[in-house]
Amino acid sequence: MINQRLILLESISLLLLIAILLPQLKAEERNISSEKLSEIAAWVTSKLEVPPTSVMPSVVFTSQAQLELRRYGRAFNSVREGSSPTLSAPTGGETIPEARRDLVAIYDDATETIYLSERWTAESIANQSVLVHEMVHHVQKLAGLKYACTGARERPAYLAQKMWLEDHGLDLEQEFQVDMFTIVAMSACM
Ligand SMILES: [Zn+2]
Repeated sequence: MINQRLILLESISLLLLIAILLPQLKAEERNISSEKLSEIAAWVTSKLEVPPTSVMPSVVFTSQAQLELRRYGRAFNSVREGSSPTLSAPTGGETIPEARRDLVAIYDDATETIYLSERWTAESIANQSVLVHEMVHHVQKLAGLKYACTGARERPAYLAQKMWLEDHGLDLEQEFQVDMFTIVAMSACM
């Protein structure tokens, strides 16, 4: 009887310990070191052939629901105007097609902030490529690169994402169901 109680107590304390530690572990996985951020920024500026920058974006982790809300809000905007990228308030929203909606991310020009899903982890190459994509939008903003329409900003972002994946032995079409035709269509100015 005593033994059983002891085992029960031990199980409970183990569960409690896991419950306490789990959020911390998750936070660590999600955490992006400033070195990693700088490394990705340097990689992106070299690919876009713009001068390197030390101005890093803020990175904010947010819930899936929040991201999708922002994404759809912006989607309506971009359909409506489709002209100067400076006109669309939260620009650069994204990205990732329906099949991979769990990997939605957004870059907000106004606050120079990349919003990533709480499900994002630094270890995943596919997730890193999403950060690369958003970093392209950050560099586009900092460098004052001009595009004929908001959609046209997507082409370099997807191409960089594709390159990052290929450098690590992965494929954009396989990981995100995005092929070149989709990229061209998405980037076309109507
Ligand atoms: Zn984008």
